[in-house]
Amino acid sequence: MKAVTCTNAKLDVVDQPTPTPAKGQLLLDVLRCGICGSDLHARNHCDEVAEVMAETGYPDFMRSPQSVVFGHEFCGEVLDHGPGTRKAPKAGTPVVALPLLRRGKDVHALGLSTKAPGAYAEQLVVEQSLTLPIPNGLPADKAALTEPMAVGWHAVQRADIGKKDVAIVIGCGPIGLAVILMLKAHGVGTVIASDYSPGRRALATQCGADVVVDPAQDSPYGKAKGHGHLETPLDAFDLAIGTLEKLQRARLPWWHVWRAADKLGAASPKRPVVFECVGVPGIIEDIITGAPLFSRVVVVGVCMGADKLRPSMAINKEIDLRFVLGYTPLEFRDTLHMLAEGKVDVTPLVTGTVGLPGVAAAFDALGDPEAHAKILIDPKSDAASPTP
Ligand SMILES: [Zn+2]
Repeated sequence: MKAVTCTNAKLDVVDQPTPTPAKGQLLLDVLRCGICGSDLHARNHCDEVAEVMAETGYPDFMRSPQSVVFGHEFCGEVLDHGPGTRKAPKAGTPVVALPLLRRGKDVHALGLSTKAPGAYAEQLVVEQSLTLPIPNGLPADKAALTEPMAVGWHAVQRADIGKKDVAIVIGCGPIGLAVILMLKAHGVGTVIASDYSPGRRALATQCGADVVVDPAQDSPYGKAKGHGHLETPLDAFDLAIGTLEKLQRARLPWWHVWRAADKLGAASPKRPVVFECVGVPGIIEDIITGAPLFSRVVVVGVCMGADKLRPSMAINKEIDLRFVLGYTPLEFRDTLHMLAEGKVDVTPLVTGTVGLPGVAAAFDALGDPEAHAKILIDPKSDAASPTP
C-alpha cells in the first residue's frame, strides 16, 4: 500500500507492506484523514515533544530520524479483522476510531509513533473496541472531523460553562473553530472570537461566533464588557465594602445573608471563560493580563516549549487555569453523533482535500492562515495540491 512517511522532517510517498491486524484489531481502508496542527508541529519539533512524553511515562513518541506515518483524525471502511476477533463489523462498514493502538501490553499514540502507523496511508490498523460505526450516512469528509471536534467538545465540557456565561475564544485555527462550534451547540449565548487573520475571523463567524475581534484593533475582553464582570481588584474590594454597607444599613446580620446568597450561588462573581487556542509562548500571560477578574482560562492550545507567566497577576485577579488534553471515549462518541444528527455543522472547517502525493504541499499551504483551516487527505485522490 501507499503511505506518506515523515523522516527528518521530510514527507515522502512510499510503498509499504499493508499492516496486519492482531486479535481485537481491524484493518481499515482509509476514506479521509485530517492534517492536524500537531502533525505540522511534530514534523519539525517531535524531539522536544518526545522528551516531555518520555518524562510523563511514554517512551515511544516519534523521534526525527524515525520514519513515522502521521494521521490520527480519520474515518475508513472495515476491510478485515485480526484472527480470533469476535463480533467484528462487516467488511465495508464505515467507521471512525479513537487513535490509540495496543501492541502487547503497551498502548501507542496512533499516527505519532512508529509503533502505531497512522492514516496518511491507504490502510491502517485500529482497535476494534475503540471503533464506532458512522451513523446516519454522515459523509466521510465530515466523519473524519470527529477527532478534532471531540477535542473542542472536551474543552467545553472541562470549562463548566453555562449558557449565560460569556465565552472568549483566543485563536481561530481549527481547534479554536471547533471550540466555537461546540460552544454554540452547547447553547452558550455569547461567543467572542479573536484572531489576527481576516480569513480565520470570517471562518469564526461562519462557525457561529457572535462577536469577532481583530486583536490588533480591539480587545476581545473589552467586547465582553456589560456582562457584569469585574475589571480590577479595586472593583472587587469596592463591591465587597458596598455590599456590607448596604446590608448593615438595612440592619441585617450580613453574614447570614452572605451565607444564604452563597448557597444559591448568588455571591460568586460572574466570570467569562477564556479558551486559549493559540499555543505559543506568552499567550497565557497575555490572557491573564487582559482578562477580567475571576476569569476561567481553559488552555487548549499546545505550547511545546517552556513559557513564562506572572503568578502575581493571576493571583490579583484570582484567575482559574485549566489545562485540557484529548477527550474521553464518551465525548468522542457523543461528538460523532452530534455531527451525524446535524447538531454541529463542520462544513466551514474543511478548506481543501489532497491525495497522498499532495501532503507535503498541504503542509506548506497550512502555514498560511488565510489560505486554509483543515485539509483532508483522500488516499484515493491523486491531487498534488489542496483543492476545495
Ligand atoms: Zn490532532
